[in-house]
Amino acid sequence: MSTNYLEGDFSFGKKKYRHIFFDMDQTLTRSRSVVEPDMKRALQDLSSFSDGIVVSGANEEQIFKQITDDLKGKIYILSQNGNSALGKDGKVLWRNVLSDAQKSEIYSHIDHIKREFSNLYKGAVDADQIQDRGCQISFSFLGHNAKLESKEAFDPKGELRQTILKKIPFVSTSLEVKIGGTTCLDYFELGKNKGHNVLALIKNLGWNAEDSLYVGDALFPGGNDESVVGVCDTFQVASLAETLVLIRKII
Ligand SMILES: [Mg+2]
Repeated sequence: MSTNYLEGDFSFGKKKYRHIFFDMDQTLTRSRSVVEPDMKRALQDLSSFSDGIVVSGANEEQIFKQITDDLKGKIYILSQNGNSALGKDGKVLWRNVLSDAQKSEIYSHIDHIKREFSNLYKGAVDADQIQDRGCQISFSFLGHNAKLESKEAFDPKGELRQTILKKIPFVSTSLEVKIGGTTCLDYFELGKNKGHNVLALIKNLGWNAEDSLYVGDALFPGGNDESVVGVCDTFQVASLAETLVLIRKII
């Protein structure tokens, strides 16, 4: 397995990947934004050579809002960090739904954080901060639909949220929390992170991990793509433009 951190180094030798996983926010699109036409075209072109899989903390509805319905039938979807999986044909492969007891554990942790760090989200719309996506609950400090510029500036390296989680650790026997998106904390079943679910899809479809590549903007320690390191080859991108160059190199 290899993780490529070299900026601008897109040389893969003669290796051709058959299954290419993409993180969505800050890899294929800006946070909660619609994909740019050139990126969409690249993904459509890629789908005739390799399997494309979008992996995101978002739910399916939000993913298709961003990558658009034009990619329906062309790609696999691992939504809610892969806790809900859709085949290319749109059929559900699995859904790891949270129980009511698990949800109340999550809500009490969020309440605790909100009480301690209310200074961080002044002006945020309360109802916009928490999204129950079924297999995952996401808490956004600024609100999921806050202004994009504010969200991108909030905690670009995730350090603020790491500090918060160190101060108020989430202790649970069946759940875990990970830093997600630009302003979020994502709660889901213990161990069922992106890496676990990428491997689950590879196994479910009888693919080889050696033929798979994962592309993301947050493969660094503490980043929300980190769990994929070691599952298959990974490629760290610093911008959407780099992802686009990478896809064009692959096809
Ligand atoms: Mg990302």
